[in-house]
Amino acid sequence: MSTLLILAVLAIMAAIAVAIVAVVMKRPDSRLGYFAHYDQLTGLINRSLFQDRLSSALIRARRDGGLVTVMFLDIDGFKVVNDRFGHAIGDELLRQIAARLVGCLRETDTVARLGGDEFTVILEGGKRVEDAGHVATKILKTVGTPYRIGDRELIITASIGIAMYPLDGDSYEELLKGADTAMYQSKAAGRNTYQFFTRSLRDRTSERTTLMEDLRYAIESGTQLRLEYQPIVDVALGTVIGIEALVRWDHPTQGLLMPGAFIPLAEESDLIVPMSKWLLDEACNDMHQWIAAGMRPMRVAVNASERLFRDANLVESIAGALAAADLDPRHLEIEVTERTITYEAERTERALARLSGIGVKVSIDDFGTGYSSLGHLQRLSIHALKIDHSFVREVHSREESRAIVEAIVSIARSFDLDVIAEGVETPEELATIRMLGCTRVQGYLVAHPLRPERVMEFVDSYDQTLAFLGTDARRTTNEQI
Ligand code: C2E
Ligand code: MG
Ligand code: MG
Repeated sequence: MSTLLILAVLAIMAAIAVAIVAVVMKRPDSRLGYFAHYDQLTGLINRSLFQDRLSSALIRARRDGGLVTVMFLDIDGFKVVNDRFGHAIGDELLRQIAARLVGCLRETDTVARLGGDEFTVILEGGKRVEDAGHVATKILKTVGTPYRIGDRELIITASIGIAMYPLDGDSYEELLKGADTAMYQSKAAGRNTYQFFTRSLRDRTSERTTLMEDLRYAIESGTQLRLEYQPIVDVALGTVIGIEALVRWDHPTQGLLMPGAFIPLAEESDLIVPMSKWLLDEACNDMHQWIAAGMRPMRVAVNASERLFRDANLVESIAGALAAADLDPRHLEIEVTERTITYEAERTERALARLSGIGVKVSIDDFGTGYSSLGHLQRLSIHALKIDHSFVREVHSREESRAIVEAIVSIARSFDLDVIAEGVETPEELATIRMLGCTRVQGYLVAHPLRPERVMEFVDSYDQTLAFLGTDARRTTNEQI
C-alpha cells in the first residue's frame, strides 16, 4: 500500500514538472522560451515560431477564407558587407533592417529571421493578390533607404519572392519553398525586385530537382558525362597551341545536354565539386595518353568554376590529379572567369599564385564581360586573356566591340600576356581580329569541339585545315614555319 502511495506521489510530481516546463517554454518572456523562439540578434521570431505562426495562419485561412502571403527576403550582396566591413557592421545592419521591416508592416503581420540575411514575412487576411505586390514594393523601398552605421553610410537592396495560399500551395513547406524559389527568380532578374511564385516556376523547380538527381547519378556512375576538346590555334604560326576541354552530358532520356543546361545547376548544389574532379582527371588522362601515343605535347585547358576556389585544397587537388595521370603540370591550363577573380579577390589571387608555382598556367575566360581592374590584373599570376565571343561576333557591326577587342589586345601586350579570341566563326571575323593584333583563335571556323578520338588526327592534319582559313593565313604560316 505504502509503495503504491509513493509511486502515486512520484507520478504527480513528474506531471507537475512536465507542466512547469511546458508553461516556461510557452511564455515568450521566459528565458527558455525566448531562446527557443526568438532570434537573439534582431529580436524577431525565428524559424520554429515562424513555422507555428504560418501553420496557424493557414488553419485560420482555411476556416475563414482569405489569402495568406509568404514573402522570402534575401539581402543582396550581404556577404560583401561582411567581408569588407566586418561582422560587427554586418550584424548591426541586420538589426536595422529587422527594425525597418517591423516598422513598415502592420502589427498583425509577422516578420521572422530564418538565419543569415534571410527574412520572411507573413501577411494575413488579404483579399487581393496585388496587395502583396504593394507591400513588397514598400519593403524594397524601406530596405533600400541608406543606413548610417557609425560614420559609414551603407546602401543595400533586397530580393523578394512571394508565394500565396491557396494559389501556390497549402502547407508551410510548399509556401516557404515557393517563396524561396521566387526569391531566386528576383535575384536572376537583377535583384532589388520582387517576383511571384507561379505555376511555371513550380514546374521548372521540379524539373530542376529531377535533373539535379540525374546529375548526381551521372557523376557517381561516371558513364554519362564526357569531354569534347576544342583546338586553340595560332593562325600566324599555323600550329595548334592547346585544346580546351568542354563537358557534355549524354542524358539517358533528354539526349545530349550542353554545359549551359547543367553547369549552373551543378554550381548551385555542391555537385560541381565532384563533377570538376572527374573532368579534371579525365582531361589529364586524355592528354597523358595522347602524348604517350606520339602527339606533340601541348596544354589542355580545363574550365574551373568559381565555387572551386572556395576550397582551400584546390591546388592540392589539381596537383593530385596531375600526379595520378602522370602529366607534367606545364601541360595543364586552368580557365577562370573574371567573376572568379573579382570574387574573394585575395584568396583567388593566392590560389592562382600557388598554381603558377607548381607550373600550371591560368587564363581568364570570357574576358571583357566582367569587372576586373587593371591593378588587380597586374597582380595575378596569369598567362592569357580570352576575348569573349560576344565581342568577336560584333567586331564588324559594333564600333564599341571593335574598340573593346583592341583594348584587350593592348592590355595583354602591356602585361605581357597571350590573347586568344573565342568563337571565331567567319574568315571576315578572323581577318579583323588578326588586323587588331590577335593571332590566337578558337572557334567553329577552325574546329568545333571534337570527340577525344579525333583530337590527334586534327592536330596532325591542321595544315589542311589552314587551307580552309584562306590564303592569307596559309602564306603567313608558310613564311614562319
Ligand atoms: P567557354 O569556356 O567560354 O567555352 C567556349 C564555348 O563556346 C563552348 O561552348 C564552345 O563550344 C563554344 N564555341 C566555340 N567556338 C564557337 C563558335 O565559333 N561559335 C559559337 N557560337 N560558340 C563557340 P560550350 O561547350 O557550350 O560551353 C559553354 C560554357 O560552359 C563554357 O564557356 C564554360 O564556361 C562552361 N563549361 C564547359 N565545360 C565546362 C567544365 O568542364 N567545367 C566548367 N566549370 N564549366 C564548363
Ligand atoms: Mg573556357
Ligand atoms: Mg569563354
